[in-house]
Amino acid sequence: MKRPSEHFAIDWDQVSAEVTALLQDLIRIDTTNPPGNEILAAQLIAERLEAEGLEPRISESAPGRGNVTTRLKGGANDPLLLLGHTDVVAVEPESWTHPPFSGALVDDCVWGRGALDMKNMVAAELIVLFLLKRHNVRLNRDVLYAATADEEAGKGDHGPGWLLDHDPDQIDAPVILTEGGGHDLTFEGKRFYTCQVGQKGICRLRLTMRGRPGHGSVPHADNAVTLLCAALSPLATTDLPLHPSQGLRSFLGGLAEGQADSISKDLMAVLEPATSDAALERLPIDDKTRLSLRSLLRNSVSVTRLEAGSKINVIPSEATAWIDGRLAPGQTQDGFLTELRALIGDRVEIDVDQYSPPLEASADAPMFRCIEQVMSIVDPGVPVIPSVSTGGTDAKHIVPRRPDTQVYGFMPYRQTPGLEEENLIHGHDERTPVSELLFATRVLFDVVCRYGGIED
Ligand SMILES: [Zn+2]
Repeated sequence: MKRPSEHFAIDWDQVSAEVTALLQDLIRIDTTNPPGNEILAAQLIAERLEAEGLEPRISESAPGRGNVTTRLKGGANDPLLLLGHTDVVAVEPESWTHPPFSGALVDDCVWGRGALDMKNMVAAELIVLFLLKRHNVRLNRDVLYAATADEEAGKGDHGPGWLLDHDPDQIDAPVILTEGGGHDLTFEGKRFYTCQVGQKGICRLRLTMRGRPGHGSVPHADNAVTLLCAALSPLATTDLPLHPSQGLRSFLGGLAEGQADSISKDLMAVLEPATSDAALERLPIDDKTRLSLRSLLRNSVSVTRLEAGSKINVIPSEATAWIDGRLAPGQTQDGFLTELRALIGDRVEIDVDQYSPPLEASADAPMFRCIEQVMSIVDPGVPVIPSVSTGGTDAKHIVPRRPDTQVYGFMPYRQTPGLEEENLIHGHDERTPVSELLFATRVLFDVVCRYGGIED
C-alpha cells in the first residue's frame, strides 16, 4: 500500500521550508490571550490563502479578535473541517532561552510560544490545503479550514462559538480534525500513536456555607469557616466513583495488547472499582500519568479558591469555596452533583458557575480507521489508540450545539528524546523540531487525501 502523498510530485524539502517559515511568521505575531489580537494572525493567513487562489473569509468577532475560514471545493460527500486556534497562553520571557515571539530556528527546532500549541498545526493544516490546491487533488468532499480565536482563556466566546452564532456554514462539518492527540508514546518498550476521541467536561462550582456570625472571643460550633472546611475535607481523601469511558477503555486495552500478562492484567484492573487503586499503583508509569489516569477514570474535583471573613476578631456568617469539577465522558451534571453531595453533605449551597459537557467521538468510525490506515503505512507496526484528555479543546463549543459532530485530536508527531514536548506545552522554551513539523504536514495531507477518496 502507498501513502496517498506518493501519488503526487511534491517536493517535500520545499514543503519543509515553507511550513517552517509559516510557523515562524505565525509565532512572531503575539497572540497572547488575553488580549488575543488574533485578527493579525487571521490577516496573515488570509493573505497566504489569497496568494494561492483560495477565498479567505475574515470575521472580526470583537475588536482585535478574529477568525479566518476558507473552503476548498470537492465532491458531494460530507465536508471535513481542519480546525486550529491561533491564540496562545502567556509567557515569562526571562525564563526562555530564545525570545518567545522570535520564531528562532535553532538546533533544527522552531522556538516560540505556539510552536506546539498550536500554531504548528494551524500552519500544517494550511499547507495541506495549499498542496491540495496546487496539485489539483480531486477529493470527494469539501475541505474547510478555520483558524480561530480565543481557545486558551475564559469561555472562548470569540472563536468557534462566535462562528456558530454568526457564520455557522463556515465550520459546518460532521468530522473535525484539531489538536489533542496524534503524538507517539512509548509504554513498556512499545510505541503507539494516539488519536484523541474524548475530553472531560467542565462543571465549575461555587460552594457556600452559612453559619452564625459572632465575636472571635466567643467560639461556637456554627462557624461557617470550620463547617465549610469540614464539608470539604472528604475531598482530600476520597475520590468520586469510577466511570471509565469507552475511549479510556480502548486506550488501556490498546496499551495492553502485546504486553506481559501481569501488565495487561493491571491495565484492565484499573477499570474495576475493587482493583483500580492498587493496579494504578503497580503500573510502570510516572506520577503525572498516574494522576491523569486517576482523573480520567471518574468525575473529579479540585478545590481551587476559598473566601471567608474580613476581620480577625469576627466570625463570618458565610464562607465560600470554588471547585473546578470535571466530568468523565458519558457523565451528566446531575449525576456529578449527586456524587459530590454524598461527600460534602447537605448543608453547603451549590451554584454552577460554568458548564460544558464531556465529549466522546467514536473510534469505530471512518476517520479513525482512515488515520489507522495511513499510520500503518507511515510507521508500520505502531498502532493508533484512542485517547481521552482531562482538559478541553474547541470541540466543547461545537459538539453541544451539533451533537452529531465527531471531533478527533490528531496533530501527528514523534516525540524527540530529551525534548519532552508534553512539558513544553504552556511551559518555557516551547519548540518543535522541523522534522516533526514536516512529518505532521505530510501525514495530515495523507489523512485528508485518503478521507477524501484518494486510494491506491
Ligand atoms: Zn491548544
